[in-house]
Amino acid sequence: MHEAASVACPACGRCPACGEQRIPREELPGECDDCHVPYCDGCGRCHACGKHRPLDLEPCACGHPNDPEKVTALEKSSGIAAPPPSPSGCWGVALILLVVGLLALIYWLS
Ligand SMILES: [Zn+2]
Ligand SMILES: [Zn+2]
Ligand SMILES: [Zn+2]
Ligand SMILES: [Zn+2]
Repeated sequence: MHEAASVACPACGRCPACGEQRIPREELPGECDDCHVPYCDGCGRCHACGKHRPLDLEPCACGHPNDPEKVTALEKSSGIAAPPPSPSGCWGVALILLVVGLLALIYWLS
């Protein structure tokens, strides 16, 4: 998963917009200056302080991240938005629980 707003992905050093390798993997800073903890391979963060691997790069040839519209589009496409739970589903569950409760009550009363 790339960080859409950063100049390059802190995990892999690629441009999040065009995918160009902006900085060779071996030149990515290895560990956090403050905590001396290696940056995570998965998210490019220091898991001790939560800071992103700092990448001192010029904006990419494709214009990233100087194009706010593209950044917003990227953020939208990369965010795995979970569909909101449908209210009908919740009502269905509530109804089933109600029926089960009523049946239990009738059973208990008889
Ligand atoms: Zn990446
Ligand atoms: Zn690019
Ligand atoms: Zn991580
Ligand atoms: Zn740190």
